[in-house]
Amino acid sequence: MITPPGHDQITLTAPEGRHLCNDRQHRNLGRLAEAIVTFGQLGIPGTPREAFWPECWGRSYPMCGLCWKATREIAQQARPHLAIQDATQSSGSVTSRV
Ligand SMILES: [Zn+2]
Repeated sequence: MITPPGHDQITLTAPEGRHLCNDRQHRNLGRLAEAIVTFGQLGIPGTPREAFWPECWGRSYPMCGLCWKATREIAQQARPHLAIQDATQSSGSVTSRV
């Protein structure tokens, strides 16, 4: 059981079945997602400069390795205290890494 991501947290889960990458170009190429990326609340609402990708909060996106790497780099630059919960490894063990 994976807890939903909280403030400044992103959770990765393994895709169930086949999911195409969320990126339109990758989807057209048939590129499969390697992880489902769920965004917590990044930043603080009501402070526009601090709220990062509010349209993604609480939502999940299938991403291939390339897209996740790019997303993680951008998100970590914007939110240096970002915590990434990686639950993509089987057996349900959850490791946190920054
Ligand atoms: Zn992709």
